[in-house]
Amino acid sequence: MRIFSQLSKLINDHHSSYSKLLILLSVSGSGGLIAYSQSNKDGGNPRNIGQNQRDQKKKRIVVLGTGWAGISFLKDIDTSAYNVQVVSPRNYFAFTPLLPSVTCGTVEARSIVEPIRNIMKKRSGEFAFWEAECLAIDSRNKRIHCRSNIKENLVGSNDFSLEYDYLIIALGAQVNTYDTPGVLEHCHFLKELEDAQMIRRSVIDCFEKAVLPDLSDEERRTNLHFVIVGGGPTGVEFAAELHDFFVEDVYKLYPSVRDLVKITIIQSGDHILNTFDARISSFAEQKFQRDGIHVITGSRVMSVSNDHLNMKTKADGKDFYVPHGMVVWSTGIGSRPVVKDFMKTVDQNNRRVLATDEWLRVTGCKDVYAIGDCATVTQRRVKEDILNIFESADEDNSGTLTVDEFRDATKDILIRYPQVQLYLKNNHITDATHLLKDKDGNEIKELTIEQFKTALCQVDSQTKSLPATAAVAAQQGEYLSSCFNRRKICELNPEGPRRFRSSGRHTFRPFCYKHLGQFAPLGGEQAAAELPGDWVSMGHSTQWLWYSVYASKQVSWRTRILVVSDWVRRFIFGRDSSGI
Ligand code: FAD
Ligand code: MG
Repeated sequence: MRIFSQLSKLINDHHSSYSKLLILLSVSGSGGLIAYSQSNKDGGNPRNIGQNQRDQKKKRIVVLGTGWAGISFLKDIDTSAYNVQVVSPRNYFAFTPLLPSVTCGTVEARSIVEPIRNIMKKRSGEFAFWEAECLAIDSRNKRIHCRSNIKENLVGSNDFSLEYDYLIIALGAQVNTYDTPGVLEHCHFLKELEDAQMIRRSVIDCFEKAVLPDLSDEERRTNLHFVIVGGGPTGVEFAAELHDFFVEDVYKLYPSVRDLVKITIIQSGDHILNTFDARISSFAEQKFQRDGIHVITGSRVMSVSNDHLNMKTKADGKDFYVPHGMVVWSTGIGSRPVVKDFMKTVDQNNRRVLATDEWLRVTGCKDVYAIGDCATVTQRRVKEDILNIFESADEDNSGTLTVDEFRDATKDILIRYPQVQLYLKNNHITDATHLLKDKDGNEIKELTIEQFKTALCQVDSQTKSLPATAAVAAQQGEYLSSCFNRRKICELNPEGPRRFRSSGRHTFRPFCYKHLGQFAPLGGEQAAAELPGDWVSMGHSTQWLWYSVYASKQVSWRTRILVVSDWVRRFIFGRDSSGI
């Protein structure tokens, strides 16, 4: 016991340096996730009355959600400048990239969660947390309405409302069923921790049912058909996990039915992992073929019943059906009801996702920000502002642009319109002034507005929407807290690009996502990764990179040790197949 307590003390005393060491060792640049490192602040200082009075003068920030975006915002926000309150029905942060591992018991559910109050304790209780769901956002009166989902038999009201000066919406998204009949009733989802736990129990139930006496082989085969709808990274990783679980652990326990088991992935596109590099997509397909994981492409699920899926091929509209014992629906995400209702109040009725500008401010209202999966950044097009850009760059008001005038404006153009940067990169153009050429390729010394329009007419085609990933959510949270922390300084000395449609400069630089790569674990201790600079890495070594990156990205030393010990336990004893 003494050794353990000394070890615990050692880790607590030195956690930040160990954390950094591990992050370094694990080549964290290739991860695609931002770590939430523990804050070093000591906890426990009781607040005095003077402190409370100061707190009342601070601007109130209300944060909705404790996922990747919300937690990454809370990690850095300066609570000496703001009064911060957090509302979420989950009193923990869940490390979602390891959810597929929870479905088969490779990692235990509690190993990937960090209680919010632990995170608060590390920040000396400097922000308040309310375990409740936000039901409505009233941006006109700067107020939100909430309801606690804590058990009914406890006394006191469950409803309350909060006023804010700034609201940060980090509500994430929900599963999208595309209104397919039967999905809600008969499919599992893989979005929350509870979903992963439910899948784990159901997989074992399928085997226990299949080995009961008096079932026909056909019935056993149906019960042991595991169908995954959606060939994106989550569906593929889950299929790979399931395959490993069966081969390494379950077949030894249920040898009589092992030949009846089948795993199928249904993908409406032509390839699985179609958002990844084509090399990764074909590597995954070949690996799955070797492993006996069946992939159906180019087909749509029309409806789901308790024992089969009704399907249609996209090419010739042929109907067919697929019997199943269990279906996991993993096709995409949609907005939560509270976000949809809010969108109606800010004139975003016809949009699919809440729109923000490049500074993550919700379009159509004031002092409301949205980050993570619940929102999308609408990048302003160069085409819409071309006249303003021209006039702003034409400093001598001559009606034409010299190369020097264009060069002076370039820096601001590249920051304000990142699609220009992307266009230059994709066309291997090192200097933006190389855009200024006539149709015969000769350099133009002075540009008219028409020539300027022609030079920049292609750049907007490079505008891309950001993926709904933890990496984007975490970077947005971090960016926003840094803007809030530097608000006073930047209002005096704006650091953003020049305003092309009015005068002066923007207070902050717009949000800019840095893509650090992404992983696709494929089972059998193999993974594929897309790394920065169009690098692709596949195979066993990539799986080790995956282990080290995901260990380093854990939110605390507690979860890091739990996750690593789960991996070690799995190597030694295998996974636990009990249906609890
Ligand atoms: P979330 O993390 O979903 O957080 C939303 C928060 O809002 C939660 O705390 C929730 O409780 C809270 N909330 C919900 N409703 C309300 C309400 N009404 N009021 C108040 N609070 C509310 N991304 C990667 O980059 N790499 C990966 O490997 C990866 N793997 C994934 C695997 C799985 C199985 C899944 C499901 C996702 C994976 N993702 C991965 C995507 C990643 O998890 C999301 O992009 C990320 O969670 C988005 O962060 P967020 O903060 O916007 O939303
Ligand atoms: Mg001029």
